[in-house]
Amino acid sequence: MANPTTLARLHHEIGACTLCVEAGYLTAAAPVLSGYADNRMMLVGQAPGAVEAVRRLPFQGRSGNVLMAWMERAGFASEEQVRRRVYMTSITKCFPGKGTGGGDRRPSRAEVDLCRPHLDRQLALIKPQLLILVGGLAHERFLPGRPLDTLVGRVFDLSGREVSTRARARPLLVPLPHPSGASRWLNAPENRALLDRALRRLRAIVRGLLDGQLAGA
Ligand code: SF4
Repeated sequence: MANPTTLARLHHEIGACTLCVEAGYLTAAAPVLSGYADNRMMLVGQAPGAVEAVRRLPFQGRSGNVLMAWMERAGFASEEQVRRRVYMTSITKCFPGKGTGGGDRRPSRAEVDLCRPHLDRQLALIKPQLLILVGGLAHERFLPGRPLDTLVGRVFDLSGREVSTRARARPLLVPLPHPSGASRWLNAPENRALLDRALRRLRAIVRGLLDGQLAGA
């Protein structure tokens, strides 16, 4: 378990970060993350949206509702349990603003690089046993250069090797598509079948971690 004081200090430091404002990428910084020192599962998204930036909580609004429904299919009893048991963060931690197409702007490589040390420190402190990777930027960070349909439905170790849900490697990586609905990827029946498979595999891992967490808490 992470040291709660050290984690609180890290959250305070991330919460005060204005690097992207100073570099001219953002007009305002409002870092978003949530989690507890005893979390053994971590979810890494792309970047918070406008609603998340106001509420300062990850995965709110429509995307959050879709994601929470997926998490319940993956074995969590409720949204409350997800938010208590899963450390939730993202590749960049501030709302990047709207893009030209109407959706949220994809953070640039430079912004990702500026924010990377925050995620590195979160990973080093939490030492998650399970990493749920939501959306393209999270996939690129941990499993670069692979099409979505070769990721969703599979489980990987940190080296990028495909493994079974019973592998001893930690953390296990489970990629999911982004729940925003901006992508049409989930419109294809074969891709929805991949999501079903991903959630079944996630369920097998989550069940063991929730049991262990409850027993060991
Ligand atoms: S996105 Fe990351 S690096 Fe940029 S201001 Fe927010 S917390 Fe800091």
